[in-house]
Amino acid sequence: MTKPINWNLDTIFEGGSQSESLAMFINEMAELVAKVEKIELPPELNEKTQPVWVHAIQATYDVLARLWQASAFAHCLVAQDTNDTLADQVLAHIDEYHARYRALIARLSHASAQQNDDVWQVLLEDEAIHPTTFFLNNQRTLGRKKMSADKETLVEELAKDGYHAWQRVYNNMVGAKKIEFEENGQVKLMSVGQLQDKYMHASSRESRKKAFNAYSNAWQELAPICAMSLNNQAGFRLTMYRHRGWDSVLSEPLRNNHLTRQTLDTMWSVVAEKSHKLLDFMSAKAKLLGIDRLAWFDLIAGIGQAEREFTFAEAGDFIVDGMRSVDNNLADYCRMALDKEWVEAENRSTKRQGGFCTSFPLTKESRIFMTFDGSFDSLLTLAHELGHGYHHWVMRDLPVGDRIYGMNLAETASIFNELVTTDAALRNAKSDMESLIILNEKLSNAITYLMNIKARFDFETAFFAKRAEKQLSIDELSELMLSAQKGAFHHAMPENDYLPLFWAAKLHFYNTQTPFYNFPYTFGFLFSQGTYWQALKMGADFSKQYIALLEDTGRMDTETLARKHFGVDLTQPSFWEEAVDHILKDVDTFVALADKISE
Ligand SMILES: [Zn+2]
Repeated sequence: MTKPINWNLDTIFEGGSQSESLAMFINEMAELVAKVEKIELPPELNEKTQPVWVHAIQATYDVLARLWQASAFAHCLVAQDTNDTLADQVLAHIDEYHARYRALIARLSHASAQQNDDVWQVLLEDEAIHPTTFFLNNQRTLGRKKMSADKETLVEELAKDGYHAWQRVYNNMVGAKKIEFEENGQVKLMSVGQLQDKYMHASSRESRKKAFNAYSNAWQELAPICAMSLNNQAGFRLTMYRHRGWDSVLSEPLRNNHLTRQTLDTMWSVVAEKSHKLLDFMSAKAKLLGIDRLAWFDLIAGIGQAEREFTFAEAGDFIVDGMRSVDNNLADYCRMALDKEWVEAENRSTKRQGGFCTSFPLTKESRIFMTFDGSFDSLLTLAHELGHGYHHWVMRDLPVGDRIYGMNLAETASIFNELVTTDAALRNAKSDMESLIILNEKLSNAITYLMNIKARFDFETAFFAKRAEKQLSIDELSELMLSAQKGAFHHAMPENDYLPLFWAAKLHFYNTQTPFYNFPYTFGFLFSQGTYWQALKMGADFSKQYIALLEDTGRMDTETLARKHFGVDLTQPSFWEEAVDHILKDVDTFVALADKISE
């Protein structure tokens, strides 16, 4: 029996990790993959060979849809029960097909690159594949920018034990690290993740500081291997880029996000110019905490205990009501997802931490995984994940090739939901203190996206420029990081209160699958603000416009999307200025309320 707080997976495949229908589905998928691998793609595309090409492309999409469906289900199984070892095996088994799918796409990409523009255009006119023109063109362009197929295959294979292996070294080392930490007279062994949580969120400043020092010391110990991993994987990446003729480390991440360099530069320069306004927030927050200036470990600390607690049902109602104030379709979706048991939110120890939303292309549903603890924070997580769910929902009838969007646009709908929900909470706040607590959360987010992530981007850019010449020492890496942090934070903190070892501590720098795992976050944050701002301006007309925007996220580049739906030019500062101003207007409200409370 499921409770409203548990999801129902049986409507997708019945029987969990022992599901017979899942096993059958995977077998069918295996047969399909083998069949598609055997299709010989005619080297020359012409009138006669075109049907084989169309068939090969459609069959590849078919593989993708099935793989997506199976893998989404396996991820749900693994997350819901940490003791379900069979689920781990199912997931590992499905993962093997990911590599084979990637090989199929690579083959298509290289073969497309060989064809001339005329025959390629004729192929794209075929109505069976025409809707996925954007995806196919991107694969072709990528094929043209890479080395020959045999060289790329060799690189891919070497990367498994080289490039990507450095990330595994890092992950394993960090995962195994345990630190002795004394608390209330007891010595506990803690992971770096636990220490991080403590230094960020502990309510007492003493505890935060103590945890932060232990955290920094731990990274000091890990730094030699971190430096080795970072230097070597960066070296691998630069060599690979050089052989491909890619002259900038930003080529790959920009292409992944369908974004131009000009847009990225414009976004960052507006952020750099305007984010000093956050210093007013930081000073007011410091005053509330009874200190002169904030340190790194105070940046996202809370400023008081929120009084309000929610049951899961109340949280759902609160979110649906909030959505109703801006968009009826969105509100209806949230209600439906909750009522249809698409959300797993129970607070129990046998499930994984964290939250995600995953979609099932063949059954046109999605599932949300999270732990709901009654706090406003977890209410926001629910709203966030429901945003992802809505994005999947409006795309449910599109071909799979049209449903793959960049990381920069992936968070549009989710952060949009957070903004709507936070504003609803502010409207309902019963006291100045409650408003301050909510505004503190909002502006702490702004610090993360506009300052912390800016520092990560600046560090990574500077690091790669220097790494092209030589390996960097631990001290050199720390110096680069410190200078990036001081710049991004406008020197707001005392000299010794930054985190120079952040280059070691941040997992994202080690992610070889997604290089520059930073700017898409800030982009998404600001783009959602722009979307929210449109919602407030447009009123009832927004709903339709929003669906059209989300539907297009996988079939055009980002600049075109923004021009089509918002009529704005992302390469120019005005959109970014408006978005940043919109966020920073909360600073004055926060400062005034903080003054009032301190009186
Ligand atoms: Zn998200």
